[in-house]
Amino acid sequence: MATVGNTAAAMSVPLLDLKAQYPAYQAELWPVLQALCAGQGFILGPQVTALEASLAAYSQATFGVGVSSGTDALLLAMMALDIGAGDAVLTSTYTFFATGGTIARLGARPVFLDIDHDTFNLSPAALERCLVEQCHREHGQLIHTASGARVKAVMPVHLYGQAAEMQALLALAHAYDLKVIEDAAQALGSEYHGRRVGGLGDIGCFSFFPTKNLGAFGDAGLCTANDAELTERLRVLRVHGGKPKYFHGLIGGNFRIDELQAAVLNIKFKHLDVWTEGRQRNAERYRALFASAGLSERVELPVAVPGLRHIYNQFVVRVAERDALRAFLAEQQVGTEIYYPVPLHLQTCFSYLGGQRGDCPVAERAADTSVALPIYAELSDAQLTYVVESIRRFYQNR
Ligand SMILES: *Cc1c(COP(=O)(O)O)cnc(C)c1O
Repeated sequence: MATVGNTAAAMSVPLLDLKAQYPAYQAELWPVLQALCAGQGFILGPQVTALEASLAAYSQATFGVGVSSGTDALLLAMMALDIGAGDAVLTSTYTFFATGGTIARLGARPVFLDIDHDTFNLSPAALERCLVEQCHREHGQLIHTASGARVKAVMPVHLYGQAAEMQALLALAHAYDLKVIEDAAQALGSEYHGRRVGGLGDIGCFSFFPTKNLGAFGDAGLCTANDAELTERLRVLRVHGGKPKYFHGLIGGNFRIDELQAAVLNIKFKHLDVWTEGRQRNAERYRALFASAGLSERVELPVAVPGLRHIYNQFVVRVAERDALRAFLAEQQVGTEIYYPVPLHLQTCFSYLGGQRGDCPVAERAADTSVALPIYAELSDAQLTYVVESIRRFYQNR
């Protein structure tokens, strides 16, 4: 039965709709893929070289090294910096699993720290507290007191597409002689006061997982760096540490990006700024719609820090009754997701690190209240309106 007086017509708004962006580059893609198939050159060819150059320039970094995924970018970055057993890496507890998982896979100890409420990013105050209260110097080396591990690096994450507080984080890292690896997986093109992320620390790590602002047709990633020697280590470790081929001075792995993925990314890259601007426009539209719906008390919108270029890989709001709202939105055909429901210090696989509820209260609270709304560029104004109207209806009866 049709209901009379519905303010918004029923529609479906998925969290992400990659099919909606495909027509924008379909015609450019096919000749390139056909040429690649005809040439049968699949490994580290001209498409990879071109992608590395254009994305390094886009990120204001000197060098780019294409890799097999964002996860492998993190792994390779730490291998290039000689991080392994007996070392510790300080990072955010509120992030995708790969940030902490790669540290642990190398035999190093992840030290998970709390975030800032406004940005969801690694808190400089938490980092400083850890360095001052939980670490000590031994023969000039910084030691994580509880575990005895040598503290080697800090790994900030530019979560949801907004840069972490890099000035304060870099100052602390330099004061304590630590390397900085940026997990920029969600933040290609994101800016910290006029400087793009990826070239701010020692190595930047990007992901082209299909849900990122620049998505491949599968898995792919990139490391960026400004130091030539470090970049050479990344390149050699990417091919099993062989240099020349079959002569191994280092133990690396197969971390190569496919030529096929690089070809797709080179084409999609031409559209990246338009897509990112679409996301930014949608974010501003959401702010206006939430304000006029009178939801400011109920829904805490993401804070866009002045001077930072937020690329809105995700638009994450915070609400009480998060799970009930999600269930209601699912019924209304509005897609949402929780990034992330469990901070890393509380994950079962990291229980050996001794993390407890209460260690990182800001992140724990975020995990209980945050929910991502659809933000992709191709959303129509009717869809954005429908999302906010659906949320308004949820609160109407409460
Ligand atoms: C996506 C993501 C990664 C991992 O990238 P993959 O390409 O999926 O391996 C790492 N860190 C963060 C913060 C991410 O969002």
